[in-house]
Amino acid sequence: METARAAYVHIPFCVSKCPYCDFNSYDNIPELKDDYVKALIREIRAADVSVLDTVYFGGGTPTSLPVRDLAALLTRLPHTEVAEITLEANPGTVDFRGLSLLRRMGFNRLSLGVQSFDDATLARIGRIHTAAEARTAYITARRAGFDNIGLDLMFALPGEKFDTLKFSLGEIIRLGPEHVSVYELSVEEGTPFARSRVETPSDDYKADAYLYIADTLSAAGYDHYEVSNFARPGYESRHNSTYWRNEPYFGFGAGATEYLGGIRRRKISSVPEYIDAVNSGKDLGEFEERVTGREKDFETVSLMLRTRRGLRADDFPAFADSFRRLTEKGMLTRDKGRLRATRQGLLLLNDLLCEVGEK
Ligand code: SF4
Repeated sequence: METARAAYVHIPFCVSKCPYCDFNSYDNIPELKDDYVKALIREIRAADVSVLDTVYFGGGTPTSLPVRDLAALLTRLPHTEVAEITLEANPGTVDFRGLSLLRRMGFNRLSLGVQSFDDATLARIGRIHTAAEARTAYITARRAGFDNIGLDLMFALPGEKFDTLKFSLGEIIRLGPEHVSVYELSVEEGTPFARSRVETPSDDYKADAYLYIADTLSAAGYDHYEVSNFARPGYESRHNSTYWRNEPYFGFGAGATEYLGGIRRRKISSVPEYIDAVNSGKDLGEFEERVTGREKDFETVSLMLRTRRGLRADDFPAFADSFRRLTEKGMLTRDKGRLRATRQGLLLLNDLLCEVGEK
């Protein structure tokens, strides 16, 4: 069995729930934090974890936990000396002391959810921080010794004007992080944004905004290495690249997904039920599927086509017809046997993947 060299740890707590968020995160159960951390440690201990190349603490807001808890969790995860250890953080939940300690304890990559540098936009999307606090968090992280920082930017937000997006992107480039992730707001069912039928910009605006962001970041020296991700050379996310190569990984915590031995398995999402299941030795699986054959190949193709590296067409002969059709349509381009999505293909990625899936 292929050994997993990557681990994801889910921290499902947030200071306040953003109205667009459908992640497994909660702002109303802070009293469960201690029990959750203990359960996580138990879950990790019980797993046969190999020496890891990457560890990723995501959420939720991992930095809503005390530093000592994050450190306690990290020490339970064996990793190489050069492992990439990422911590997601939100402005408003970090300070110099905490970040310095986290850096010394081994976290070496910080992913900061700034989303926008426009205060009115941040307020509209329910973020707990202002643009000034986001700048301060970034500068503080640098002072604390983080030399690999990623900033998240969202676009197609309610009430967004091209000028505010331009300003936010300009601020990101001025700050100069090593990595930028860019997400279009998607209004998910069951969220307050969906219930209030919040209005988002038109599809034409979204397409223009995405291409503007891609062109501007590329001109500023960022490599557009995945549909939503940009990095300075050498700073591509090693952890996320594991997902995009469809390689195995551990997943710990409530609602975390793991992919081991060809089985993709999601853990119990409810935090109290997860804690209870760990403590009573019950099965933690909430959903499980074996990924094999054409389905596995389709997943791998779908993930690889998200990346600039693309894939070797010869590795996936069953998809040759779809590849040919999509190349004729200008959605894919072929170079020395490697296929990758064109600009048009990236823009219409979902359509492209639907078509790859057709026989
Ligand atoms: S901070 Fe992130 S995880 Fe938490 S509620 Fe907001 S979007 Fe969701």
